[in-house]
Amino acid sequence: MPTTRQYDLILVGGGIMSATFAVLLRQANPDLKMIVLERLDNVSMESSNAWNNAGTGHAALCELNYMPDDPSGNLPSAEKAISINQQFQESREFWSSLVKDGVLGEPETFIHSVPHMTFVQGAKDVSYLERRFKALKDQPLFAGIEFSKDFEQIAKWAPIMIEGRPSSEIAATRIEQGTDVDYGALTEQLFAWLKTKDVEVLTSHEVRALYRNNGLWQVAGKNTDSKFEFSSPRVFVGAGGWALKLLQKAKIKEINGYGTFPVSGHFFKTENPELVARHQAKVYSQAAVGAPPMSVPHLDTRVIDGKTSLLFGPFAGLNLKFLKNGSWLDLPASIRFGNIVSYLSVALKNFPLVIYLVKEIFKSSKQKLESLREFVPNAKTEDWQLYEAGQRAQVIKPVNGLGVLQFGTEVISSADGSIAGLLGASPGASVATRVMLDVATRMFPESQNAWMKGIANSVPSYGLKLNDDPSKARESLSATAKTLKLKA
Ligand SMILES: Cc1cc2nc3c(=O)[nH]c(=O)nc-3n(C[C@H](O)[C@H](O)[C@H](O)COP(=O)(O)OP(=O)(O)OC[C@H]3O[C@@H](n4cnc5c(N)ncnc54)[C@H](O)[C@@H]3O)c2cc1C
Repeated sequence: MPTTRQYDLILVGGGIMSATFAVLLRQANPDLKMIVLERLDNVSMESSNAWNNAGTGHAALCELNYMPDDPSGNLPSAEKAISINQQFQESREFWSSLVKDGVLGEPETFIHSVPHMTFVQGAKDVSYLERRFKALKDQPLFAGIEFSKDFEQIAKWAPIMIEGRPSSEIAATRIEQGTDVDYGALTEQLFAWLKTKDVEVLTSHEVRALYRNNGLWQVAGKNTDSKFEFSSPRVFVGAGGWALKLLQKAKIKEINGYGTFPVSGHFFKTENPELVARHQAKVYSQAAVGAPPMSVPHLDTRVIDGKTSLLFGPFAGLNLKFLKNGSWLDLPASIRFGNIVSYLSVALKNFPLVIYLVKEIFKSSKQKLESLREFVPNAKTEDWQLYEAGQRAQVIKPVNGLGVLQFGTEVISSADGSIAGLLGASPGASVATRVMLDVATRMFPESQNAWMKGIANSVPSYGLKLNDDPSKARESLSATAKTLKLKA
């Protein structure tokens, strides 16, 4: 018989979301009895691992998908971009407080200043980027953003993108406050601290069953050589791509109608010191027609384990796994009577996405190199190696009886707040602080007043509209830049 130990909270999954949630809770309540269950033999091995994601501190400084033109060609308000920026700023504030408290190590072990740029070609996109720049340049959270259509200026910002490029209409924006984040290192450091604070972190423990018994959740599964079963009044499902499957097992009605759509990703990588030294930016561009926002091409400086490299991608692929270390049965096994209409309607309504994916899957190495040369005209095959990043599980949300592809992170919780989980990807890890604070308010509503004091110290912008208060926005940007050793 497996042992049954009782906890105040069981967290399933050893990624950045569980780590962030557990740290927030441990700081708020040193007595909360928590356990983390991770199926792999270490934490941070799936999407949160540095090599499995692109490490962008998503703050809408360069990603066009947070502010696209509307169907009639008019730029919408900057509201969504400002909201994403504020959420990342809350993460910067939280990480700053953790550095000061000694929970996290030196900032350069997980975050670096890397300017964020957007680069576009052709009259339509140049006009769009100029309008976007004008809409953002006076927003306090976007202070310092620059725009240029000049070859020479853009060559100063990103020389390898201009060398060998025939004369054409181009434009770029650039902002110094952009970041590259090693979410893997961050996650590992958070778990290392949690272990010193009496949080049990059990690896090689795969959760296979979740059910209610006498008002408690029973969480059962298998480790390498035996079975386990734990109980708790509350469960957080931070299982990444497998959250859908576990929430379905828990049989909460709030998951009915939801599905997830897996998209794998490959990147080109180079460690050629000459190239690495000559490109210091994360440069995002316009997505291909039909491409999901997370497939926007970008050329990035990455700093992982103290070593700098460049990556370009992603190249999307279709496989049926919801996790990189998942199963080919993930997608078929997730189909239920309650969500089959969602899956079918998404497939029918998103035909351009289907076409895009088919094109991506059949892209030859030569075509992939051509895509890279749109960014780096003189790219040489021998410098760039293709590698497989993490698996994204895009949310399919039921809306009016049909499915809608949702681009973002979706919190699903039972009506009584006893169980909550996360579906979806981008902006993902960047906004882990906001997402987990929202989950905390759903799962521990009675504790909010007591906790708000601590949260106000570590995430002072939470609940405020930073961008509406220029002096507060400046103060938050420069204080976090100072602690995290970033450019303001
Ligand atoms: C290609 C790619 C690029 C990305 N780029 C960015 C980016 O630039 N910026 C950004 O902010 N975000 C990015 N993201 C998104 C970001 O990586 C994720 O949002 C974030 O890492 C999710 O964290 P998580 O803790 O929810 O999931 P994960 O890190 O996937 O962790 C889930 C954990 O749960 C475990 N698990 C699953 N099922 C079970 C079970 N039954 N029992 C026990 N354990 C289980 C898994 O093994 C895994 O360790 C990217 C993602 C991908 C795939």
